[in-house]
Amino acid sequence: MARRNRGILFVISGPSGAGKGTLRKILFDRVPGLAYSVSCTTRHPREGERDGIDYWFVTEEAFNRARDRGEFLEWALVHDHHYGTRAEDVRRELERGRDVVLEIDVQGALSIRDACPDAVLIFIAPPSVDELSDRLRERGTETPEDLSLRLRNAMTEMEMASKYDHVILNDNVERAAEELIALVESYRNSKEVQS
Ligand code: 5GP
Repeated sequence: MARRNRGILFVISGPSGAGKGTLRKILFDRVPGLAYSVSCTTRHPREGERDGIDYWFVTEEAFNRARDRGEFLEWALVHDHHYGTRAEDVRRELERGRDVVLEIDVQGALSIRDACPDAVLIFIAPPSVDELSDRLRERGTETPEDLSLRLRNAMTEMEMASKYDHVILNDNVERAAEELIALVESYRNSKEVQS
């Protein structure tokens, strides 16, 4: 593949439980050469999650210090915890010509729209709120309070889909993954032709 001067920033976003994590993992398994930006969060690790792989797990104090120093490209309070994208990590990869993928919430994606107008914003939509609720329950990682907070937030997040460049309906994981892969590859190919 010819090397481009600057990578493309892809933002995968949508409500919690829409399946964006699963789709992102399939994308990375099947498409070579993408860089994933590991976010910082103040929430506690779930079982099996590893520091520096799933997230950088940090204290509120460390998060606030980093935010005050302007180290985040975007940050947001999501379901009562802070999450942020480290600007330096993203900048370094894009400058090396690598395409970067962020998997972040809707507020974060909309801030990226202002900070990086060339970013490609992809909304992953669940087939319905009922389905979303079933998936979150099956995942079993949330307390009942967290679950209802996530569902309430999902209703507002769904209304933001029209602000994205693309919406992928995750009615079937394999089909949605194929659509995501085709989308990423089409951007990569068109940038290839231009450079
Ligand atoms: P979870 O706690 O389930 O891992 O993530 C909760 C939500 O925060 C998900 O929608 C996830 O995509 C989002 N998120 C993860 N990292 C970031 C980030 O760096 N910035 C923002 N704005 N949201 C994030």
